[in-house]
Amino acid sequence: MRTLPLVVAVLFLGVACNPKQEVDMLVFNANVYTVNDDFPKACCFAVDNGKIIEVAENADLFEKYTSKILRDVKGRTVIPGIIDAHCHFYRLGLNQQVVDLVGTQSYEEVLERVVSFQKENPSNFIQGRGWDQNDWEVKEFPTKAELDELFPNTPVALRRVDGHALLVNQKALDLAGIDGTTRVPGGEIVKKEGKITGVLVDGPMKLIADVMPKPDRQTQIRALKEAEAICFDHGLTTVDDAGLDREIIELIDSLQHVGELRIRVYAMVSNTPSNLEYYLEQGILKTDRLNVRSVKVYGDGALGSRGAALKAPYSDKPGHFGAMVTPVSEIGALAERIAATDYQMNTHAIGDSANVVVLRAYEKVLADKPDRRWRVEHAQIITGNDFDYFESGVIPSVQPTHATSDMYWAGLRLGQQRMWGAYAFKTLLTRAGTVALGTDFPVEKVSPFLTFYAAVDRQDLNNYPEGGFQRKDALSREETLKGITLWAAFSNFEEEEKGSIAAGKHADFVVLSHDIMTVAVDSIPYIAAEQVYVGGEKVK
Ligand SMILES: [Zn+2]
Repeated sequence: MRTLPLVVAVLFLGVACNPKQEVDMLVFNANVYTVNDDFPKACCFAVDNGKIIEVAENADLFEKYTSKILRDVKGRTVIPGIIDAHCHFYRLGLNQQVVDLVGTQSYEEVLERVVSFQKENPSNFIQGRGWDQNDWEVKEFPTKAELDELFPNTPVALRRVDGHALLVNQKALDLAGIDGTTRVPGGEIVKKEGKITGVLVDGPMKLIADVMPKPDRQTQIRALKEAEAICFDHGLTTVDDAGLDREIIELIDSLQHVGELRIRVYAMVSNTPSNLEYYLEQGILKTDRLNVRSVKVYGDGALGSRGAALKAPYSDKPGHFGAMVTPVSEIGALAERIAATDYQMNTHAIGDSANVVVLRAYEKVLADKPDRRWRVEHAQIITGNDFDYFESGVIPSVQPTHATSDMYWAGLRLGQQRMWGAYAFKTLLTRAGTVALGTDFPVEKVSPFLTFYAAVDRQDLNNYPEGGFQRKDALSREETLKGITLWAAFSNFEEEEKGSIAAGKHADFVVLSHDIMTVAVDSIPYIAAEQVYVGGEKVK
């Protein structure tokens, strides 16, 4: 009889004293750009169980919550965890496992780096990447003589910076069965006075790739972890890997499950028969850190090597149109097959011809299927009325640093008229209402601050060209910030769980060294991600 009033009294007391809620972390004294719809700013937020539970404009939060971890960021700028909407995360990691030859000043330096790498990481097939004879005093292709002397019994394969040439030694040639009589279409086995020099261009490189050892499990794991460390260092908390096989997707999932990998991954499935058969049957695979619900398809090649498929011939190569990598009919068939599932189709399209082929295929199968958010990866050259296609919900997934990397020669390939719709990010945004921004690393550098700078300023680091490259297509800072956070999340069907600092979302955020929205534009490339959090956990 007497217990009931006691319980009521205790309850009442509880309310009256208004005890503070204990949470995992309070972040305060911050200049927070929340990236919520009306773009409000905040000073503080509370984090619990990996999620943001409340965001406030003033310090009232302290009256409601208490925490053992009080994170005073001393007025620094805080933005949502950065998402790279198009990159090659695993490939970045694999690149760390081979000899780095980027920036070598001579062939002697290449050899030195190979020798010392092999000493520290002995391998029975030496691989390297990044040499560029244009940086050397003697601007000629190297020959294999020195490599044969240094490594008579170990195969060596060193990739040129653009990935379109390979220097190999005799042992590698022997393994691949390449000799003076070998003929491979679509490339060259370079010879000097009738003898093989060791340089292979394009086509024949495949013969070497076929005999290279596949990375073993330890190497795969090391690659993923090293890529993660690089990404965290730059403030990335989610990466959209544009093309992974089932084996690596499953490895990522298992590493995430045991806490060995903490970065969130949006894994686009590579378009192979076995991948598609498995995943389209399986349906969407989603955990807190992994999302598998899209297929990556290659439409055409790249502009630099004149592989991009154009409607009219290249301006600097009469009669040459580039080519589709996946035939037009196959793209249509794939679109139909994927549209019948819940999967998203993300197709690489650089040239205006490839873009319209892809956009038409999308339009045909999505007519009565709203909100499928299919993406065009790169959407680099659009001509005629083809921008109209983006008004139907197709998302352009673009890489601003491609504009400032290609601007020196893109006009030669395309001519002035076609340039109007090239790297036209603002035009795409105006039509589509959203753009997802990325880098395509390791083709470009990992830093999202370079993306930000290229998007808003459209100049290189030397302020070239004056006034910016096709300035009409620069994005505002607000648009760019959304492009690397909320809109990238939207392109992944993840805007309910990430992409802004809001109650209920993952506590993924970055503390910056400078205010990215107000700092002088020339300082943007040098902004640092000082602290990085994934699910409330400090990862940098
Ligand atoms: Zn890519």
